[in-house]
Amino acid sequence: MTQAQKLDVLAIGAHPDDVELGCGGTLATLVAAGRRVGILHLTRGEAGTRGTPEERQDEARSAAAALGVAAVEYLDCGDGRLNTDEDEEDALIAQLRRWRPEIVLGPPASDRHPDHGRAHRLVADASFYAGLARRGQGEPYRPAAVFSFMQHDAFEPRFVVDVSAAWGQKLAALAAYRSQLHQADSEASGPPTKVASPEFRAAVEGRARHFGQLIGAEFGEPFWSRLPVAISDLMTLVPGGLR
Ligand SMILES: [Zn+2]
Repeated sequence: MTQAQKLDVLAIGAHPDDVELGCGGTLATLVAAGRRVGILHLTRGEAGTRGTPEERQDEARSAAAALGVAAVEYLDCGDGRLNTDEDEEDALIAQLRRWRPEIVLGPPASDRHPDHGRAHRLVADASFYAGLARRGQGEPYRPAAVFSFMQHDAFEPRFVVDVSAAWGQKLAALAAYRSQLHQADSEASGPPTKVASPEFRAAVEGRARHFGQLIGAEFGEPFWSRLPVAISDLMTLVPGGLR
């Protein structure tokens, strides 16, 4: 696999739309600051109740464009039975060595959908193994940090990113997933699912307002870190919003 232009941040999700829902505002905020960001979907969403994998791939491309990310990639880890064996680790290690992201954003350690917890383990393990010279092909590379975005289950965040300025782009990214998520301007087709309900969309906004409010911002996205978060300049912790 050829080496690609290095990324600052690679966001990895189990299914197309996981990353956009969990950290789409953070990604758009990074892009606005001139950072190179990529998205890696570990599956093509082939087990989803609604939409075909082809539709979801088109939607993922449109969503990535709405956020301004530089690259969108897929692995085939298996939707609904997400595999975390050596083959999947090797495939993810190859992607990490190819893109060399400083920071990896991934799913939380446990969640309602079992694929999310499995994906968390896969991302954490591959991020470590990618730095080992005697594991797999290619130049060893280890990301500096791995953080988890929030999905269904709430957790106590280690930090919250102010995404107020990028909220419109996050909504545009979610609007791209026409087969998956409720759209205010149309009656989506297909069987009803929890994520396709208008209540789910309202909950996405409510959660972002809740975590935003805690840091004095209109909208915020929460993250978890296994390790303490390293700060070299304490003043970066001065929030920009209301006190
Ligand atoms: Zn998912």
